[in-house]
Amino acid sequence: MRPIQARISLGAMAHNLRVARSHAGAARVFAVVKANAYGHGLSRARRALAAADGFAVLTLEEAANLRQMGVEQPILLLEGLFGADEIATCTELDLWPVLHHAAQLDWWQRQPPVRPLQVFLKIDSGMHRLGFRLADHAEIVTRVRHLPGVAGVTLMTHFAQADEASGVDWQLQPFLREMDDHALPWSCANSASLLRYPDTQGTWVRPGLMLYGASPFADVSASQLGLQPVMTLQSEIISVQALQAGEGVGYGQLYRAEREMRVGVVACGYADGYPRNAPTGTPVLVNGRLTRTLGRVSMDMLCVDLSECADAGIGSPVVLWGEGLPVESVAAAAHTSSYELLCALAARVPVQESN
Ligand SMILES: *Cc1c(COP(=O)(O)O)cnc(C)c1O
Repeated sequence: MRPIQARISLGAMAHNLRVARSHAGAARVFAVVKANAYGHGLSRARRALAAADGFAVLTLEEAANLRQMGVEQPILLLEGLFGADEIATCTELDLWPVLHHAAQLDWWQRQPPVRPLQVFLKIDSGMHRLGFRLADHAEIVTRVRHLPGVAGVTLMTHFAQADEASGVDWQLQPFLREMDDHALPWSCANSASLLRYPDTQGTWVRPGLMLYGASPFADVSASQLGLQPVMTLQSEIISVQALQAGEGVGYGQLYRAEREMRVGVVACGYADGYPRNAPTGTPVLVNGRLTRTLGRVSMDMLCVDLSECADAGIGSPVVLWGEGLPVESVAAAAHTSSYELLCALAARVPVQESN
């Protein structure tokens, strides 16, 4: 069998939820499990995160799957309704939609749910992606409160730079100031905001990334935040090449040996979810020792430097990211984010679950 595998630790996920809760104060915690729980599997996340106060997803299909798995907690639809026809399913499954656009209010007005539902009203406090303009809040909040079929309204916004030096205050302060009049529950915090800005707790927090053991910050590691890696992508060396000085490795011959050296070929490529644009020098563990990738990543394989790994050969274990090698360090080398790497784990990679 091809030796690649993703090990996913449910215990680490449960631990990370406890870390999230320790930052949440009195706020309730939505575990964000969109995108197949950031590549970790919805069913696994549901089991590991059973202690969450609610789950946040993107689609009706994800929400229906959670209900089928026995989830009784609130389920938030982060982008709300994609069409008027979804209101009936929201009612049937008792889902809480985000309302972020006038078109959604029109659908709702014409076909209100037969049983009143909780809704989250999304206000755009500066990200300019989803939500009603902050300046229009008085009119919009009044309209939504008086819509038929609305059991309660929670005000919501999302931060554009919670993980950066610019932070959240430029969005948070105007949002809180304007929302104060309404005296409604509110929700702002993603992982970065929850970890760094206690004043964003509100009524509900919405951590995603941190539950999977990755840091949202460039300057603080996951272990410094007390988080444990959940996914370890591992494989083995399936070929060893002895290169002479001047010989190149792989497609495009992007790396050329400066002297005689040993190169390991690992059973992992971009069709497994490893980033194709990871350049020479991307960190990788061979036999538990830190080394680097060489040349271009191919579909099913990549090459690693064995110069400092004299004991490595066919069958030596390789960690691409996870335990012992933070996914953030691979993401940084490949000029992408840990979000993208985790979500991109390919369906063909077998998953081994552990506690
Ligand atoms: C994905 C998402 C989150 C979770 O963000 P993380 O950075 O993964 O913690 C929170 N809120 C909304 C609206 C989202 O779409």
